[in-house]
Amino acid sequence: MIEQLETIGVIGAGQMGSGIAQVSAAAGYDVVIADISLEAAQAGLDRLKTQMQKAVDAGRMQSGDRDAIVARISVAGGMDGLSGCDLVIEAASENEAVKRKIFVELCPVLKPEALIASNTSSISITRLAAATDRPERFMGIHFMNPVPRMKLVELVRGIATADEVFDLARAYVDRLGKTSTVSEDFPAFIVNRILLPMINEAIYTLYEGVGSVEAIDTAMKLGANHPMGPLELADFIGLDTCLAIMQVLHDGLADSKYRPCPLLVKYVEAGWLGRKSGRGFYDYRGETPVPTR
Ligand code: NAD
Repeated sequence: MIEQLETIGVIGAGQMGSGIAQVSAAAGYDVVIADISLEAAQAGLDRLKTQMQKAVDAGRMQSGDRDAIVARISVAGGMDGLSGCDLVIEAASENEAVKRKIFVELCPVLKPEALIASNTSSISITRLAAATDRPERFMGIHFMNPVPRMKLVELVRGIATADEVFDLARAYVDRLGKTSTVSEDFPAFIVNRILLPMINEAIYTLYEGVGSVEAIDTAMKLGANHPMGPLELADFIGLDTCLAIMQVLHDGLADSKYRPCPLLVKYVEAGWLGRKSGRGFYDYRGETPVPTR
């Protein structure tokens, strides 16, 4: 029985995993990050260090805080490096087969009392839990992007999640200084159930020629007071992640209103995944983003 979490493991050193590692270390937890290889995990940590350096340079972070965060994070080459963790948060790509394979490899190395969580944006927590040896010690802890700035975390119980596990997860989120909301285990939970159909609709609006990329984003920023336009936001989330969430909504709720826009599919097929790949609805390879349509 774990009374209090001390060491947090993070699987996936991408934009979400590195953010989860940062906020966990900032709250005083020891953190171990793993990815597909030691090099990939190290590259994730290096990107995080670069981002924190920018925050220090801009006066948004103290250099002492940055050093304390870095000192608490280590990288692992494989699942073995996560054996001492009290809670492992999976933040790998939004693909159910990838996540299931991770859990099958992770479970044998973890201590029996350790908790496992997924940061999935949309996939059933109950189904993911069934790929582990401990469905009662598994739940969804869904962070928002960018993790250090966004205040919300959605907590999602699977059908078997034990109350004590839910309470430990809620205490963890509290210690990060974030606010948790509880969502039932339905496709895409609360935030993405509402947000992603809006983004998908913006892509249809572009696809049908109702407006240009610039017109659509300006319309929603100035006309609906959104801080980012929907296409800019799609690029920020990652177009592969947006498509995966729409597919989960479409399959899980069997309603044609969730049909992913063919233009979104085309961008993902082209490898134009948004900011993380340098191009999406905008081209980020120059000084300022330029619309691609
Ligand atoms: P990302 O593409 O930036 O990072 C994914 C990472 O997972 C990569 O570093 C990749 O190498 C790693 N990975 C892939 N297969 C792996 C494996 N078998 N073992 C270990 N690592 C593996 O993606 P992201 O945006 O960080 O998203 C990660 C998760 O967080 C997804 O489930 C996504 O739905 C969720 N999420 C994303 C956002 C967002 O806005 N991007 C917000 C909330 C939640």
